[in-house]
Amino acid sequence: MTEWIRPPSLDEALAARREHPDFMLLAGGTDLMVGAIARPAPVGVIDLFGLPELSGVSRDPAGGLRLGAGTTFAALLTDDAVRTELPALWAAAREVGALQIQARATLGGNIGTSSPVGDSLPVLLALDAEVEVASSRGTRRLAYDEFCTGYRTHALGGDELIVAVHFPADIGRRVQAWRKVGTRRAQSISKVMFAASVERGADGTVTLARLAFGAVREQPIRALAGEQCLAGETPDAALAEAVAAAVLTDIAPIDDVRSTADYRRTVAGRLARRFVLSLA
Ligand SMILES: Cc1cc2nc3c(=O)[nH]c(=O)nc-3n(C[C@H](O)[C@H](O)[C@H](O)COP(=O)(O)OP(=O)(O)OC[C@H]3O[C@@H](n4cnc5c(N)ncnc54)[C@H](O)[C@@H]3O)c2cc1C
Repeated sequence: MTEWIRPPSLDEALAARREHPDFMLLAGGTDLMVGAIARPAPVGVIDLFGLPELSGVSRDPAGGLRLGAGTTFAALLTDDAVRTELPALWAAAREVGALQIQARATLGGNIGTSSPVGDSLPVLLALDAEVEVASSRGTRRLAYDEFCTGYRTHALGGDELIVAVHFPADIGRRVQAWRKVGTRRAQSISKVMFAASVERGADGTVTLARLAFGAVREQPIRALAGEQCLAGETPDAALAEAVAAAVLTDIAPIDDVRSTADYRRTVAGRLARRFVLSLA
């Protein structure tokens, strides 16, 4: 029989995690329930869904937004600060599954699964997000690209929980973008996702550039060659072509059931080109 623990507080959740490192952590269950019937039942479950200390949007002491790991995509969509300061994340949240999935699926669960097609993950890279993790030993914060270590793997310790995601205080000043390309307009698993944020100087030059993709490598990535090409420049049609070419050196897509490597390369270049043109 599977033991089921539903801790009423974060302290108790951390204690349960320490005592039972072999128990499954459950948030909305929208990833875990898929195929669950075909897997052996877990020895135990630590059910985090709705835990108040993991839910909701607040400000951290540095003035940045702090999104609780247990916040659902539906809750993110109704938050004014998320909509105005993190429009790229807001747009991604809108495209996660359907309304029923958005009502259960949490940001922390997306991060916990660490899939190359997790919709929020390129946004975390493009917006310089940090993941806050905690254990009974204390808390630590890691940039998302340190947190995600490979195909569906991450740096969470056996006694740790994902507690929150933090964004820089001035993130709302950046121009942000999000695009998901799938088989259809809604409820599709991504073939390619693109997230970006830039800051510009008074003369229009790009002073900071972040370009990120999902589904084009084994894990969500920042397109560093593309960023280098964009930073310090004034966006125009020629720069759009150059950035589109540069991002192709950042990505290494594969053929799979959802798409082909060729299609993904073509789309990734177009998304980057379109973004730079939108700045021009
Ligand atoms: C029909 C359907 C459509 C979907 N569409 C999309 C889509 O369009 N885009 C997309 O990105 N995803 C999609 N998904 C996948 C899923 O909804 C998301 O990945 C979601 O964010 C998972 O969150 P959850 O709370 O349900 O996680 P769960 O399934 O509860 O957990 C997922 C993983 O995260 C771990 N975890 C959860 N919370 C924590 C925590 N606080 N600390 C440490 N580990 C934790 C769990 O142990 C587990 O390994 C879809 C799923 C379904 C079933």
